[in-house]
Amino acid sequence: MDYRFETLAIHLGEEPDLWESGDVVAPIHLSSTFAQRGPDEPPRGYRYSRIANPTRDVLERKLAALEGAKYALAFSSGMAAETAVLTALLKPGDHMIAFEDLYGGTKRVLDLFGRRYGVEISFVDATKVENVLEAFTPRTRLIWLESPTNPLLKLCDLEAIAKEAHRRDVKVVVDNTFATPYFQNPLRFGVDVVVHSTTKYINGHSDCLGGAVVLSDGDLYEELSFIRRATGGVLSPFDSYLTLRGLKTLAVRMRQHQENAMRIAEFLEGHPKVIKVHYPGLKSHPQHELAKKQMRGFGGMLSFEIKGGAPEAQRFIRGLKLFLFATSLGGVESLVNIPAKMSHDNLPPEERKRLGIGDNLIRLSVGIENAEDLIGDLERALREI
Ligand SMILES: *Cc1c(COP(=O)(O)O)cnc(C)c1O
Repeated sequence: MDYRFETLAIHLGEEPDLWESGDVVAPIHLSSTFAQRGPDEPPRGYRYSRIANPTRDVLERKLAALEGAKYALAFSSGMAAETAVLTALLKPGDHMIAFEDLYGGTKRVLDLFGRRYGVEISFVDATKVENVLEAFTPRTRLIWLESPTNPLLKLCDLEAIAKEAHRRDVKVVVDNTFATPYFQNPLRFGVDVVVHSTTKYINGHSDCLGGAVVLSDGDLYEELSFIRRATGGVLSPFDSYLTLRGLKTLAVRMRQHQENAMRIAEFLEGHPKVIKVHYPGLKSHPQHELAKKQMRGFGGMLSFEIKGGAPEAQRFIRGLKLFLFATSLGGVESLVNIPAKMSHDNLPPEERKRLGIGDNLIRLSVGIENAEDLIGDLERALREI
């Protein structure tokens, strides 16, 4: 289909002619198995839902198209997707490079691969390409990046890093959960594999877990399909349907998330009780120019440092009414969390401090409620600390 993002998100893979009944949304195929015509005849398109399922297939075709890729595989969670990619690309004794500012769960699984399979991992500040260059060893097989990162919204130059990696025959993986395919397509910059937690913006309604791997390399796709079939972390037909439903409105949601986040970032930046705001859309963000170059928008996530420490941060959170205190992000409702206490509580305090994740760092997932209402909520809570 030769259409643009919004149109593809709604129509691709769901053409009514695909089904005899003319459904305008993909039917939910709950069947775990599919009857074959006979032992001597070639199987129909489907055999068993762990291998492939028609509803999941529609989601995968849509995700691939929206990332500008050939293939996508949908998993039961973002972590299941990440585990499959690590399994496909690493073997015992390999070395990998990872951005030091990463989703806490990703650090946890990397740590597991390190301990169990002897994979050596160098965590670097990938905002500077030189730091990545210095970390290469002859055993380096993989670079794992996020851009923007969680929770400090740092960016890395995807094109420059991919170029250096390919010169050394090293694969590059980017977790594109924060930007979504609406604002950024890492494969366009030479990145090999994109992973998503579809739990977040892609589903967008905080009612379904899911993950995806998106890529154009046919051999790696075959290997990942094999790993998923062997290990079984597939997205269920019902969750595939929910994710498809969410995905249809990704573009309009992302535009609103971004508009609200921009207004809130500007409000916070001018507030006397706020020391610093981390949002790539602000001119004060150290990589604002890179954001404009490699992204088509700045997203709905931001974090900021409040004056004071843990007691002030906790009073602020208690003062909020609209922003719900919860982990996760990317849903229509606004959420607030304290990374030091939640997503990054598995890191030792000295490590958090080194990374800049203090007790006074507050992360917002800005929802699509009315922006005035959201700013009013923040203003009231700041007044009370
Ligand atoms: C949530 C998240 C994950 C993990 O996804 P799950 O669906 O919770 O397993 C990975 N990366 C990022 C950036 C996330 O926000």
